[in-house]
Amino acid sequence: MYAFEFQRPADLQATVAMLQADPDAKVVAGGQSLIAAMKLRLAAPSALVDINRLPGIRDIRFEGESLVVGAGARHADVAEHPDIRRRLPALASLAGRIGDRQVRALGTLGGSIANNDPAACYPAALLALNATVQTDRRTIAADDFFTGMYETALAPDELIVAVRFPVPEHAAYVKFRNPASHFALVGVMVARTGGAVRVAVTGAADHVFRCEPLEQALSASFTADAARGVTIPADGLNGDLHASPEYRAHLIPVLAARAVEQALAHRA
Ligand SMILES: Cc1cc2nc3c(=O)[nH]c(=O)nc-3n(C[C@H](O)[C@H](O)[C@H](O)COP(=O)(O)OP(=O)(O)OC[C@H]3O[C@@H](n4cnc5c(N)ncnc54)[C@H](O)[C@@H]3O)c2cc1C
Repeated sequence: MYAFEFQRPADLQATVAMLQADPDAKVVAGGQSLIAAMKLRLAAPSALVDINRLPGIRDIRFEGESLVVGAGARHADVAEHPDIRRRLPALASLAGRIGDRQVRALGTLGGSIANNDPAACYPAALLALNATVQTDRRTIAADDFFTGMYETALAPDELIVAVRFPVPEHAAYVKFRNPASHFALVGVMVARTGGAVRVAVTGAADHVFRCEPLEQALSASFTADAARGVTIPADGLNGDLHASPEYRAHLIPVLAARAVEQALAHRA
């Protein structure tokens, strides 16, 4: 690891000022991806700007029919939050199956979506639930946020503050996990809100995407059979030592069908 400065600003303005003053500085939240990248010398920031003590950054609250989760909320905070477990159990369950206990104790919502790993779980939740990302300067729709492999719409000096999730009528996330890392070989999140169905797929391509054929089929009939009847072409999907593009294409409707069954069994 290369030498770096460590800074712990007291508020949002100071954080953004530090990022603007030094283009090579990077935010650190849980450090679960960034520190590993630094150890491997894949990242060499001049400074780490620690956001963990910013006021309110870890807050979780319901506002009417929306859930607002602070960017610094740990995966374990979301997994164990009694109101999320009651009102949006699909999200609590997703967070509770990320990585292992240590990753869930430190990894954050903001770090996960800023990193935008192609196999990460939270990006699927943001897309399927039609969430919005609140930064220090604007609100970004999930549809516009995830732009490519490890790429997002964030400016280099922009800080995610919170994510707002509309509470759906029915939702579930099912992942076929890599047994070593627990990342998604393929993960599918299905959500129905006000009759509209959104389906997001992670792990299968260079970044998370919405699956239009499944959304159409499930909007016509929100049943597992409707999902099973959809065929997904393998073109453009990931192929690696874990699974071929054809295998991933096969998994997408299979997991979507299981997600619909779960979503119908538990409200949201
Ligand atoms: C062994 C292991 C298994 C894992 N398994 C899974 C899994 O099953 N599913 C899954 O989804 N994920 C998995 N992860 C990833 C994990 O969930 C973390 O969420 C992820 O590593 C990044 O979160 P973090 O808070 O640690 O971010 P950090 O490592 O601190 O930061 C990651 C990146 O995000 C930026 N960043 C952080 N916070 C903000 C912010 N608020 N605003 C702007 N930029 C920000 C940083 O500058 C950095 O570029 C796994 C990780 C490990 C190490």
